[in-house]
Amino acid sequence: LTILGIESSCDDTAAAILRVPDDGAPQILAQTVQGQGQLHADFGGVVPEIAARAHAEKLDICVAEVLRDAVLGLQGMDAIAVTAGPGLIGGVMSGVMCAKGLATGAGLPLIGVNHLAGHALTPRLTDGVAYPYLMLLVSGGHCQFLRVGGPQDFTRLGGTIDDAPGEAFDKTARLLGLPQPGGPSVEAEAALGDPARHAFPRPMLDRPGCDMSFSGLKTAILRARDAIVADKGGLTRQDRRDLCAGFQAAMQDVLAEKTRRALAACPDLGVIAVAGGVAANEAIRGALMGVAEAAGVRFVAPPLALCTDNAAMIAYAGAELYRAGQRDDMTLSARPRWPLDAAAPSMLGSGK
Ligand code: ATP
Ligand code: FE
Repeated sequence: LTILGIESSCDDTAAAILRVPDDGAPQILAQTVQGQGQLHADFGGVVPEIAARAHAEKLDICVAEVLRDAVLGLQGMDAIAVTAGPGLIGGVMSGVMCAKGLATGAGLPLIGVNHLAGHALTPRLTDGVAYPYLMLLVSGGHCQFLRVGGPQDFTRLGGTIDDAPGEAFDKTARLLGLPQPGGPSVEAEAALGDPARHAFPRPMLDRPGCDMSFSGLKTAILRARDAIVADKGGLTRQDRRDLCAGFQAAMQDVLAEKTRRALAACPDLGVIAVAGGVAANEAIRGALMGVAEAAGVRFVAPPLALCTDNAAMIAYAGAELYRAGQRDDMTLSARPRWPLDAAAPSMLGSGK
């Protein structure tokens, strides 16, 4: 099965061509990701209208690029997979319209893919992980534990009730005047700081289950920063490092403890996989690895380029859905919201 994947749900326009043999490892024949960081840099966040326009401009270019790199024409594809949500509606619509045009023109089947399913199935693409497994998706926009039983079988065990961890890293960086994206800059500063200087809260550890909250942490950083500024008139380099170290330690402790509980709630699972940009954080990754080891399960972290937004994961999820019999047509619509699964009440509150 050779499949073209298209992704445009946030601020990256991406296309990929994947070959998925009946048995044997999938092979990425070509892929491209075009970010929009510069376009949004002056606004302190992604501007939906600008993103939608940029996607509309870049989609054709990305598709042409991967077809050229794979030395294949559209007639060499068996299907076209596209992110149909969740995400910024303008961008998702641009991608869906592009895919519909290509599918109609080439007479190919169209498969609408949930972006989160793309992330959640990535460990199968990169490491051939077998169902079922536990997934921690931890990115700039999401944070949730999923039990993954199949390409259409997801059970949400819990997740953040407010900010996503990546968002918290980015906001912390902004509060401390560090460059965006905040994750890498906060991590670099934290490595030189004292995590014990500030006792930041570990929100919701006192409550059972796998839900998390990170917005209070951001407020705590703001207060600590303002207290130092009020006291000394400004922040030294070391003050910044200590604030970053304290923040990262809190984040790490919460994610590790909630992961321990998620694993305890699913004793039949032998693998925990992570995806999302925050999984790039060495300290967090190390803590999660320690939790997996203690629980006697395998820890899988795909390479960073496949952990963050990309189209290879959409093509891969599309291939699995194609094999499961899914076919979409011109009625496929873009969905700004599209939960993989409603919370499973029986799992919440367990695992303490
Ligand atoms: P989503 O995929 O949920 O829509 P997104 O596209 O913003 O959101 P990703 O591309 O997966 O998310 O990840 C980007 C986020 O990861 C940013 O918030 C960034 O700060 C964070 N991040 C990247 N590297 C690190 C790191 N080393 N430590 C912590 N966070 C990091
Ligand atoms: Fe994503």
